[in-house]
Amino acid sequence: MPPSFLACANGFSIDGGEGRAQKGWVNATALRDKLADWFLACGRDLPWRGTRDPYAVLVSEMMLQQTQVAAVVPYFVRWMQRFPTVAKLAAAGEEEVLGAWAGLGYYARARSLHRAAKLVLEQHGGGIPGEREAVEALPGVGRYTAGAVLSFAFDQPVAAVDANIARVLARLFNVRMAVDSARGQARIWSLAEDLLPGDGGRLHNSALMELGALVCLPRQPRCEECPVRAHCAAPDPQKLPIKKPRRKVVEMEENCVWDFNRRGVMLELQEGRRWKGMWKLPMLERRGAGAPVLEDEYPFTHHRVKLRVYAQRCAGGGGARRISLARLAVLPMVAAHGRAVHRLLSVAGRGGGGRGAAAEALRGAATV
Ligand code: SF4
Repeated sequence: MPPSFLACANGFSIDGGEGRAQKGWVNATALRDKLADWFLACGRDLPWRGTRDPYAVLVSEMMLQQTQVAAVVPYFVRWMQRFPTVAKLAAAGEEEVLGAWAGLGYYARARSLHRAAKLVLEQHGGGIPGEREAVEALPGVGRYTAGAVLSFAFDQPVAAVDANIARVLARLFNVRMAVDSARGQARIWSLAEDLLPGDGGRLHNSALMELGALVCLPRQPRCEECPVRAHCAAPDPQKLPIKKPRRKVVEMEENCVWDFNRRGVMLELQEGRRWKGMWKLPMLERRGAGAPVLEDEYPFTHHRVKLRVYAQRCAGGGGARRISLARLAVLPMVAAHGRAVHRLLSVAGRGGGGRGAAAEALRGAATV
């Protein structure tokens, strides 16, 4: 049986909403019920919420990691049309998979999903398993994603703590430790597990997550509209959750070559772990001669990268190859480099010589 009352931060006074609460305790049963009622009335109709297909849930969860819901929706719909089953995804080539992920960022997730599909086909006959251990053994699947698949697809009472839920719980229970520390994480997960209903996790986890997305917002929580306000222990919600100090942003430089002719653009296939299988403009070890033809900046983990592109001949070698414009349209590219190529081709197109087709060919090109 799930507990009916949960302890929140020491000595904080809570109104349980049912006249049963004590000082420092939250009425979990009433909280769960109000949350569920609110979600049924106000939850958004997202494409992955209409399915219990574990594969579709896994795809949506992988896409949603570090990416906004609005950005994911069209990708999810297209992905499910292109790879509607585990078997279809497992049979696809890596370039096709990376191309379909293009623009979502963090390509490691697409590769993990691809590997997971192959593994599910080999070891589970094409059906995503419904046991925690087996789901967590899939590439790219951690505690949160496993919890999401088990609760959303299999309706198991399993916790799934993402950033939204962590924020909601930290406020509801006035958690006074950094939620991204090991101790803070343990506390939040333990609260999430205690708050689970006895059976069915789908509605409960969806509701908690949606509360974080729509009401218990990071900077300006809408407490006056909150369905569980009476159960909330946060004395000053905007100051929660507490987080560890941010890492300092490190400045970096990338100097690249722009070498374009009627046979195409010189690009370089990446081999390192992070960008494996992706394409970038060929790198220079130092700044090129003269002024760059393009400058841009982009964030990368805790780095800020200054990208400079110089028009000069690329000697080739390594992973550098000339890529035809037709192929560019389906090539998975690192986002900032894809943008740079797009802009430079547009400029080349304006210069005439039939190169307007260049920009056209690249429209919608695969980038990360
Ligand atoms: S009352 Fe405010 S801080 Fe508390 S859960 Fe609701 S929105 Fe979040």
